[in-house]
Order: sequence, then C-alpha cells, then structure tokens
Amino acid sequence: MTKGAATHRSPSKPKLGQHFLASEAAALRIVEALGEVSQGTVLEIGPGRGAITELLAGRSRRLIAVELDRVLAAQLRMKFAAQPNVEVIEGDILKIELDTVFGPKPGSLRPGLTFTPEPAYVIGNLPYYITSDILLRLLEYHRYFSTLVIMVQKEVADRLAASPGSRDYGLLSATAQSYGRVEKLFTLPPGAFSPPPKVHSSVVRVTIKPRWESLRVTEADFIPFLKLSFGQKRKTLWNNLKTRYDKDVLRAALAQSSVKPTVRAEALPLEKAAALFRALKDGSC
Ligand code: SAM
Repeated sequence: MTKGAATHRSPSKPKLGQHFLASEAAALRIVEALGEVSQGTVLEIGPGRGAITELLAGRSRRLIAVELDRVLAAQLRMKFAAQPNVEVIEGDILKIELDTVFGPKPGSLRPGLTFTPEPAYVIGNLPYYITSDILLRLLEYHRYFSTLVIMVQKEVADRLAASPGSRDYGLLSATAQSYGRVEKLFTLPPGAFSPPPKVHSSVVRVTIKPRWESLRVTEADFIPFLKLSFGQKRKTLWNNLKTRYDKDVLRAALAQSSVKPTVRAEALPLEKAAALFRALKDGSC
C-alpha cells in the first residue's frame, strides 16, 4: 500500500479505468523514468489516489494533476493543500484547454514577439479505455511537452514501440514514432495494481523530437497521409492510396520511391513512407 495515501477510500470506478498502483517501488520507477524534473513543470494525467503525485510533488518545480473523478480530485486538493507547487484540476484530459494551461497568458505577449513554451514533462498511469485518444492528443499538442512517460496496456506498448514490418507495427506506431523516440521501459503484472486489471501493463517513454525536417514533410500533410496509408487493415498501399490519388500519379510515385504497389503500409519505414508522400505531392502538382 502506498505510504500516506488517503485513509478514507471511495470504491474504485472501473468505468474510469481506476486501477491504482499498489506498490511505491513501481511508482518510483515510473517517476524516475521522467529524469530530472526539479526545474520543470510536470503534467500528471489521472493522479487517482496520488501514488505518483506524492513522489513528484517534492521533486518538481510545478505539478499540474488532471483528474476526472470529482471525489478523488477533491481528496487530492486537500492532501496537497500545503504544497503550492501542486495544482489539481478536476477535468477531462481529453477536453481541458491545453492552450490555456500551457500557452501564453492573456496580455503577456508583446506585439511582434512569438511565444516559446517551456516544454513540460507528462506522466500518467493512463485509464486504458482512452489510452490512444490521450496519446494522440498529447502528440497533437507536442509543442508544450518534452517527455511523456505513460503506463499503458502491454499490447499498446508493444504497438507503440514496434519496428516496421513486425506484427505489431501500425498507424499508432508510425504516428508516435514520427513525433520522437519511443521506448518500452518495463512491464508490471496485474498484481501491481488495486484492483488488478485483466492485463499486464508497460511503461513507455516518448522523447518528443518531431522528425518532419529530416523526413522533409510537414506534420499537417504527413499525419493525414499516414492515416490514409493504413486506412484499411490488411489492404495494400495501392488499394488504400488509390481512394485519394490518381492511378497514374500513384504508379509513378511508387516507382520513383522504389515502393512495390503490393506492399502494405505496415512494412514501410517512415523514411520510405515520406519519400512516397513527397513523390505523390510532386506528381499531383
Ligand atoms: N495515477 C493513479 C495510480 O497510478 O494509482 C491512478 C491511475 S488509474 C489507472 C487512472 C486514473 O485516471 C483514475 O484516477 C481515473 O479516475 C482517471 N481518469 C479516467 N478518465 C480520465 C480523464 N478523461 N481525464 C482525467 N483523468 C481520468
């Protein structure tokens, strides 16, 4: 049982993915995966009963914890009332205005100056029912973040860190890996949580370093292209891409980027996907 946790405990709500960390050692391992945060801001997603929060409260300059469950959010607010660096927001991580939390404060920007955010760290033992949605939202707002350390279902971690051509590689892998380095760090058994989930859980670290420049693409163009390429599982690239591109343009672009039409997106390294995208863009002009 985590030291210092609230004595009065409301029952966990399975619908909100409430599987609380039952081991302080595991919580510490997750926190340590973030690295040195003493001068930084940390966003914690789903703090729950505070197993990770209480370790981070004393280690980070500022900690923003977003919890959907009203009772848990209120308990956390009381628990950390004496620590002004900890801010508990009762809210849905999929809906809160990240621009308001991390963007420029109204009136703070002088005309002609651009806002350069100080990137925050993100940590969370994520509620599994919305893992992909949370991750995709964090990636969409990646300008505000430097490192994400998230606990996800093991199968999701395998997909995130998979290499092209492997069984687990798909749209989620390609998307996450185009925003930075993805590492699967360690796996915990169901018994590390209370109540135990039905699955194993793994911690993944994403070090944000978008690859748009080296891939010579833009995020706005390339992410939709990845979605289209992976559109229908088990379909070839040709079949997925012909829904959007003229067949002659597609044939020429595949030849130019040395990609066989019978290949599936799952087999294509990001560099090849980007080469194909650039050839299609040139050919469509
Ligand atoms: N961090 C705690 C721990 O490790 O013990 C709790 C982790 S538990 C797997 C997930 C937490 O996310 C729960 O506290 C749940 O109430 C919260 N949660 C669920 N959906 C959420 C959402 N949309 N936004 C913010 N928090 C959410």
